Amino acid sequence: MKPAPFAYQSPKTLVEALQLIAEHSDDAKLLAGGQSLIPVMNFRLAQPGMLIDLNQTEGLDTLTLAADGSLEIGCMVRQSTLEKSMLIKEHAPLIHETMPWVAHSQIRNRGTIGGSLVHADPAGELPVLMVALQAEFELQKVGQSRRVSAEAFYIDLFETELQDDEILTKIIIPPVPARSGSSFHEVARRHGDYAMAGVAAVVSLDASGTCTACRLVYLNVGPKPMLATGAADMLIGQPITPELITQAAEHAAEHEIEPNGDIHASADYRRHLAKVLGQRALNGAVQKI
Ligand SMILES: Cc1cc2nc3c(=O)[nH]c(=O)nc-3n(C[C@H](O)[C@H](O)[C@H](O)COP(=O)(O)OP(=O)(O)OC[C@H]3O[C@@H](n4cnc5c(N)ncnc54)[C@H](O)[C@@H]3O)c2cc1C
Repeated sequence: MKPAPFAYQSPKTLVEALQLIAEHSDDAKLLAGGQSLIPVMNFRLAQPGMLIDLNQTEGLDTLTLAADGSLEIGCMVRQSTLEKSMLIKEHAPLIHETMPWVAHSQIRNRGTIGGSLVHADPAGELPVLMVALQAEFELQKVGQSRRVSAEAFYIDLFETELQDDEILTKIIIPPVPARSGSSFHEVARRHGDYAMAGVAAVVSLDASGTCTACRLVYLNVGPKPMLATGAADMLIGQPITPELITQAAEHAAEHEIEPNGDIHASADYRRHLAKVLGQRALNGAVQKI
């Protein structure tokens, strides 16, 4: 199918883009990589009257390391750039490891970090990574800017904190503490498909092997990235053992996710995957410390 008719603007500056979204907020869509928006428009599930294309907007595709060690990633940074960047490999190895799981290389060449985060598909990898890495999102509208944690940004199924007149301009990822490791695991029917379930883990240990911090976040087993705080609490303050990791992963899979069944997998199977993948991700994270 073809999309319904729409007007098109290609702002050259962020100021211009913010003004356009303010003027047309109730009837406009921002176009980033188009890998989710264009199919949705072709199916006429979305019929925006105005498309505001961010592809020519200056200054939104930078990827830098700030003085405090945080990564600052512009919303229009392509997913393939994240995959290949040495800065990302060194300072956010979890992202480097996970990017090949996101769709196919052709889609990653167009798809952006901002588009994926705002699209908020519960099966998306990037939202889960951002919650695991305690990222903050910079949301801008005319004359105003605010920061929201990734955890607070995701509200429910395809529902986020972003207001109609706001643009997600930048993602800020703080440095992980020393003696930290991270790992990502997912199961998909074919490589490049959305996963039936997946999980990211970030674990920090002190010199004696006691866990000082843990983030365990699941995808596609609930309406949004599912942060398993109960499982993390079972590990924090304890000497890490494989047995404890198994117990924590079981707890998360039994009590901290809300899987649904669909044509790809039953809810029970997703729960089973969550248990096994959680165990693998936690063990994998510890092994990398
Ligand atoms: C066949 C196929 C397989 C896929 N598999 C996966 C997968 O396995 N995992 C996965 O995570 N994704 C997958 N995707 C989705 C892909 O990663 C998309 O690139 C991504 O979801 C959207 O990014 P985009 O840059 O293309 O955004 P767009 O499609 O351009 O936009 C998506 C939405 O975000 C809004 N938006 C975009 N940028 C901003 C911004 N800066 N501020 C505010 N709103 C904004 C748009 O208005 C739109 O509503 C797949 C897509 C396809 C077609």
